[in-house]
Amino acid sequence: MQYLKGVGPARAELLERLGIRTVGDLLFHFPRSYDDLSDTRAITELSAGVMQTVQGEIVEMEGREISNGRSVVSIVLDDKSGKCLEGVWFNQPYITRGYRYGQRVSFSGKPRWYRDHWQMNAPRVRILDGSAREEREESTIVPVYPLTENLRADALQAMLRQAVDRYAAALPELLPAKLREQQQLPGSQAALAGVHFPRDLQTARQARRRFVYEELLVLQVALALRRRELRDRQQAPPLPVDSLIDEHIRRLFPFKLTADQDRAVQAVCRDLAKNRPMQRLLQADVGAGKTAVAVYALLVTVANKHQAILMAPTEVLAQQHWRTLDAYLARSRVRRLLLTGALTSRERTKALAAIKAGDIDLVVGTQALVQDDVKFARLGLVIIDEQHKFGVNQRAQVRKLGVDPHYLVMTATPIPRTVALTMFGDLDTSTIKHLPPGRQPVTTRWMTESQRERVYTRLAEALRQGRQAFLVCPLVEESETLDLKAAEQMHAELKEGAFREFRLGLLHGRLDDEAKDRVMEQFRKRELDLLVTTLVIEVGVDVPNATLLVVEHAERFGLSQLHQLRGRVSRGSVAGECYLFSSQTSSDAQQRLRTFCRTTDGFALAEQDARMRGLGEFFGTRQHGLGDLHVADLLADQEVLQAARADALELVAADATLKQPEHALLRQAVIERYGKTLDLSRIG
Ligand code: ADP
Ligand code: MG
Repeated sequence: MQYLKGVGPARAELLERLGIRTVGDLLFHFPRSYDDLSDTRAITELSAGVMQTVQGEIVEMEGREISNGRSVVSIVLDDKSGKCLEGVWFNQPYITRGYRYGQRVSFSGKPRWYRDHWQMNAPRVRILDGSAREEREESTIVPVYPLTENLRADALQAMLRQAVDRYAAALPELLPAKLREQQQLPGSQAALAGVHFPRDLQTARQARRRFVYEELLVLQVALALRRRELRDRQQAPPLPVDSLIDEHIRRLFPFKLTADQDRAVQAVCRDLAKNRPMQRLLQADVGAGKTAVAVYALLVTVANKHQAILMAPTEVLAQQHWRTLDAYLARSRVRRLLLTGALTSRERTKALAAIKAGDIDLVVGTQALVQDDVKFARLGLVIIDEQHKFGVNQRAQVRKLGVDPHYLVMTATPIPRTVALTMFGDLDTSTIKHLPPGRQPVTTRWMTESQRERVYTRLAEALRQGRQAFLVCPLVEESETLDLKAAEQMHAELKEGAFREFRLGLLHGRLDDEAKDRVMEQFRKRELDLLVTTLVIEVGVDVPNATLLVVEHAERFGLSQLHQLRGRVSRGSVAGECYLFSSQTSSDAQQRLRTFCRTTDGFALAEQDARMRGLGEFFGTRQHGLGDLHVADLLADQEVLQAARADALELVAADATLKQPEHALLRQAVIERYGKTLDLSRIG
């Protein structure tokens, strides 16, 4: 950095605060936006609130203290239109230093009408009586950078000027010429200049788009390579389906598969029949019936004399899957086993031995339990019922079972398309959108505190008719700092109060697995009427007789979480009812809750959630190494993402190891960025 003129230790430290340590970092410190200064007007023609430029002569300059050390500087411009324009700067007393009376300058900014004249707050100033040449050549498009205190925009711009002039040429051209042409993107050097010193907005847009595309192409090529590598490196047992097997399996279901389920089953069967491992993502709206598709795949595997495992994210869900399977398989000879934390170590040892000997066809368990040390005799299929928070990394761990089974990954909740294309970008996708027929829609109402009694009355009425209900609170215990209705507190209150006559249960994350399971079992058997709970029940819990849901502090939940919760009460043929309570809410939260009351499509809600809350929930907390993009914005750049994905697939299909010379630099970038995360050993 210090090779650049004007960068001493002090400035280097300021730059470091922006994450800029090398010239490369500086070059890729991209503008947040651009100001368009081309809209030049007479002062009398100004309109409020939009970026405009005024040229005139300085007729007044004044600086003064206002209060406790704060100061204001005012510079007044006259353009002979009959009105004057005042520029004001707070706490920048040095501003006047660069200017003098009578000087011709331009102000650019968003004007507002103040008392009797136009004013601009801290306008951008340009001196016009310098050389006429410079004036003409200066662009009217000005980049706006993320800055830090004490680092001024013009200083940063001067450094960038040097950096671009001296080093941009050294930037490697990763993009194969063919793709650059197809996408009509500028070369890397021109694009860098275009990002920092654009002639017009169109140039700036194309320049940025080039780097967005490049970044997403590298990611998508990495995902495509991984997908190919897994497929080619591994031999999976072909597990074909004939009409006999098909009939046999379908007879086990107490319902007819929906068209969406059928399509998913067909895709799964096509994959299973091949000797390359299936790598498929099954996405479904909440309650749309993924489990049936999973069961189908499990039974195809068993019919082909191979073993299958079904992994759930929690013990409660593992238990539930087990019960579902058990019911379907009541009269079958499938040898099955539930691997839970409740097994004694002797039982566990015995179970593992049976699995290893091939005496067990089907294993259900939590991911933790199955991942450890389980050895299979002939593993054919792994189904991962995961919360959407797990991604590629987790799947890599499962693969260390040392065999080549087929994989089916199910997401617990609809995910935004961008997330599917990145976190699950190495998988083929099947989607189940439509709910089974006969399902009644849930009515969702956002209630005020004064309507609480009415909601309780309605709840009590339904419970008396034999229905069951959930009441969901965000936390377990009353917190001292936040006035949240904690589950324990709520449970105690209702038990003594409004719901004295009913049987209440309490389920939360602090209970151990056994206790959780006991409570769920009671609820399932209708020994409890009302279950006071936390997000523990968010995912998957299936009790069709429970048709009422109350959510406390709904503002604390994301749309997807609320949708999952609501999915708990739309399982049977009785229309579900969902009541939301919230405390004081931001306008964001209000909009979210209103959207939620209106929308029942989980995929639409997922997109909306992403737009409002960002993708942090998917990529933020856990380090996936896939979501942390530098230039691209997965939400704003969806279109580029799709283009990059299509191109990446084509490129890898044509050159599976990126050995062609025009792919050399791209290959290097892919290995550097994703070689480790995605375990790309074949090209590395
Ligand atoms: P999810 O996709 O949320 O996991 P499930 O697989 O748990 O959904 O299914 C939700 C409910 O719908 C279950 O009670 C299941 O029995 C029922 N179901 C699934 N498929 C059908 C179908 N084709 N027809 C009728 N009911 C179905
Ligand atoms: Mg389910």
